[in-house]
Amino acid sequence: MSLRLYNTLTRRIETFQPLAPPRVTMYTCGPTVWNYAHIGNFRSFLFEDLLRRHLEASGYRVFHIMNLTDVDDRTIKAAAEGGKSLSEHTEPFVRAFFEDRDFLRIRPAHVYPRATTSIAAMVELITTLLEKGYAYIGEDGSVYFSIAKFPAYGRLSQLDKRELKVGARVSSDEYDKDDPRDFALWKAASPLDEQVGAAWDAPFGRGRPGWHIECSAMALSEIARFGVKTLDIHCGGVDNIFPHHEDEIAQSEAATGEPFARFWLHGEFLNIRGTKMSKRYGNILTVRDLKEEGVDPAAFRLLVFSTHYRQPLDYNDQALEAASEGVRRLGEFHERLSEVAGEAAGKEGPATGVVAARVPEAVGEFRRQFKEALDDDLNAPQAVAALFGLVREGNRELDRGAWGPEDAWVALAAFREAMDVLDLLPGEPEIDQEFRAWVEAKVAERQAARRVRDYGRADAIRDELRARGVELEDTPDGTRWRVQRGAGTRGAVQ
Ligand code: AMP
Ligand code: ZN
Repeated sequence: MSLRLYNTLTRRIETFQPLAPPRVTMYTCGPTVWNYAHIGNFRSFLFEDLLRRHLEASGYRVFHIMNLTDVDDRTIKAAAEGGKSLSEHTEPFVRAFFEDRDFLRIRPAHVYPRATTSIAAMVELITTLLEKGYAYIGEDGSVYFSIAKFPAYGRLSQLDKRELKVGARVSSDEYDKDDPRDFALWKAASPLDEQVGAAWDAPFGRGRPGWHIECSAMALSEIARFGVKTLDIHCGGVDNIFPHHEDEIAQSEAATGEPFARFWLHGEFLNIRGTKMSKRYGNILTVRDLKEEGVDPAAFRLLVFSTHYRQPLDYNDQALEAASEGVRRLGEFHERLSEVAGEAAGKEGPATGVVAARVPEAVGEFRRQFKEALDDDLNAPQAVAALFGLVREGNRELDRGAWGPEDAWVALAAFREAMDVLDLLPGEPEIDQEFRAWVEAKVAERQAARRVRDYGRADAIRDELRARGVELEDTPDGTRWRVQRGAGTRGAVQ
């Protein structure tokens, strides 16, 4: 079965077909770097990561573009409040975003165009829209897109034109516009914009881009390298459908006369303990917070993939605990398979796509179910269920000695192929200073007990360490210790 995806544009599940296979151009709306991205933003980025990885695992060659919105109302306001220039304010958040992305093992996009370094492309696009009569200069000196000139407006969000409100991030002074629904392509420079360095010269006046034109211009100029004007896939969170993506379509299609994107995919929101994440509720969580709490990135990935991307996801303590436990079991199963397959820990395993004379039934079944689940509009929860099915079956076969090294090898290959997409193995624990000092002291204490032949005490210490995930190995050169994957290794130990 081939890949089927829900296309917001048609409100239907469609067979995925890129313009020029095996190439897939994929544009995902990136973070607005006015602050740290929160775990809701990262839920969207993880759904996109899953899509990208599944496409790649299916043989497509993906060109992934993610923009960085480093100039808009929020970034300007935040920079001004901090008494900084726009770039001084946004730069640390750009760095933090990349760190958080790497922590969550999200595959880097191929390019990260920034709005502030793509102004020329935006000016060019707006010039085209003015020339073609889709845009006009308002009385306030801003440039607006004329919705009346683009009859297809509203198709993506399926809003009746009468219902269309003035969207967010639109210059709201209606007297300057022909029609209150028109949105700004270019906003005339204000003193605040000048203060933070967010104003550029353009043939139609000094100012700065509207948020929507940023994505249209960056997407079109990045895919120009392939000589095309249509993206295969455009993604974002559901809040982007209107007005952001609706406006991106209007601007891009009015300028190029070609469809802007073939597939529009939107991820649902992440909520926290049943409530929307919001400053007002003081419940905004960032990846930094997860890190501080010692949350394994794999556990967060599993938590996110346990809900279908088109369903709202609730982040709560039980869900996180269940995910941590799941990741621990995956790690254990992986180690067990590696051992039976006869491979030394840490060595390269079987190559993906291994061909074996005999494929255990459970493995064949898993492979089929896993691919089928993801091909079915990225049904990650079902793919995850198939994975745990393999863990259960595999453990049972290993328990009764039915799987030999060759079976384990084949299972390991299938398991790793799945990990190439989901990436859920527990991380090597980061060991902090305090924990290391505690372990070293315990190891020394045990050595001392052994020297005076107090083996009861020595064993008690070994057990105590084991309870914290620390395994000891006595060698002729002394005692070595290592921490098991997934163990909590932070902070003071009583
Ligand atoms: P922003 O930084 O606001 O431009 O948003 C970056 C991405 O995160 C966009 O694709 C948004 O749709 C998405 N997003 C924002 N809030 C949430 C949320 N609570 N849950 C999931 N995705 C979100
Ligand atoms: Zn965008």
